[in-house]
Amino acid sequence: MLDAARALLATGPLCDHCLGRPFAERSFGLGNDERGHGLRVAVALADDDDFQQGAGGDCWVCEGVFERLDEFAERAADVVEDYEFSTYQVGTRVPPLSEENDRLLREDAELATDVGEPLRKELNREVGKRVGRVTGTDVDFERPHVQFLLDVDADSVEATVNSAHVYGRYRKLERDIPQTEWPCSDCRGSGRQGSEPCDTCDGSGYLYPESVEQLTAPVVEDVMEGVDSTFHGAGREDVDALMLGTGRPFVIEVDEPRRRAVDAERLEADINAFAEGNVEVEGLRLCEHTMVERVKELNATKRYRASVEFGGDVTADDLADAVADLDGATIEQYTPNRVDHRRASKTRTRVAHEVTSELEDARHATVEVHGAGGLYIKELISGDEGRTEPSLAGLLGVEATVTALDVLAVEGGEEPFEREEFFLADGRDGADGEDDEE
Ligand SMILES: [Zn+2]
Ligand SMILES: [Zn+2]
Repeated sequence: MLDAARALLATGPLCDHCLGRPFAERSFGLGNDERGHGLRVAVALADDDDFQQGAGGDCWVCEGVFERLDEFAERAADVVEDYEFSTYQVGTRVPPLSEENDRLLREDAELATDVGEPLRKELNREVGKRVGRVTGTDVDFERPHVQFLLDVDADSVEATVNSAHVYGRYRKLERDIPQTEWPCSDCRGSGRQGSEPCDTCDGSGYLYPESVEQLTAPVVEDVMEGVDSTFHGAGREDVDALMLGTGRPFVIEVDEPRRRAVDAERLEADINAFAEGNVEVEGLRLCEHTMVERVKELNATKRYRASVEFGGDVTADDLADAVADLDGATIEQYTPNRVDHRRASKTRTRVAHEVTSELEDARHATVEVHGAGGLYIKELISGDEGRTEPSLAGLLGVEATVTALDVLAVEGGEEPFEREEFFLADGRDGADGEDDEE
């Protein structure tokens, strides 16, 4: 080891970091600068030479970059001064010349060119440790709140602030509210046709004046002081359907939030006040970004209530027989005409887990269906001109039309949407978050 240290020292002026780095795999618990200093001391003692301090800023390998660790950390902290965060990660762009020098150092000392650790790795770690100290936050290598990029050549420290997420369930208590913004197709959302306001949307740019998204997401964006927001629903009901019962799971994602540990209970009250009874939310909680994929992908079953009108008279016995046939049946459905034509048409099968009905008079009934995700209910009733088999109309031999459709529940098929590991502590009294000491 001492021979290797002597050979390294003979290459030119070295700082302790660069002298110690080729030995990074030895003696866990030391920094490379401590290794370098120790070797310098050991060589001086062994050779009974005068002790010489490390070269610091004059190091030929790193050109003094390790002298600037505190400065880089302070600058990183300044960049995110206005942002609340508790986890971070540091990445660095090291000058190619320094990386080349790091290789030449080993070559000149006749060591393996990859011995120890690369310069970039040490710089990441040393800046990272200091950023953690200065900001009082923890490193997270998976999905940190803030990702710093230190570019040594450009002399810049930049930060990317990752989005924050809120989970909840919504009820839609008025019809004709789409789930997400619906831009007017006649003016493509511009609100204008030539120099005139668009007739179709009265110049608003939207086909519907409000959506579940517009009634909820801006409140979250505002409270978290973000720059934009996105609404992710666990599927969506038709524009003219109500969403009742336990509501539909959703995640609101806020970009570049300045506040994260918000009080979810207050946020819920704020949204409900803003939505004025058209939409209600409940069970709001801060959640991991992985919840977005979960609400979109988790296999869910739905419970519906349909008001049905018949084209001819139907008896209670006929209806009971037809519903008994549908109860538990596997339904084949060719993509309905009303569905987005950008989707490829195909026949798919879905199970109607449970179907019940109540005849109101010879021409009207209420039908409840608990179906697998993706089962088209209006077509299950009407038959969609033979494209859905079996159907209530087909079994009864009379026309059957859904006049109103409400969703009563959206629940995970094999497991609930709400699993603890997806949730984060929020900013409520005494909860973790802002007032964390460590
Ligand atoms: Zn150095
Ligand atoms: Zn328009």
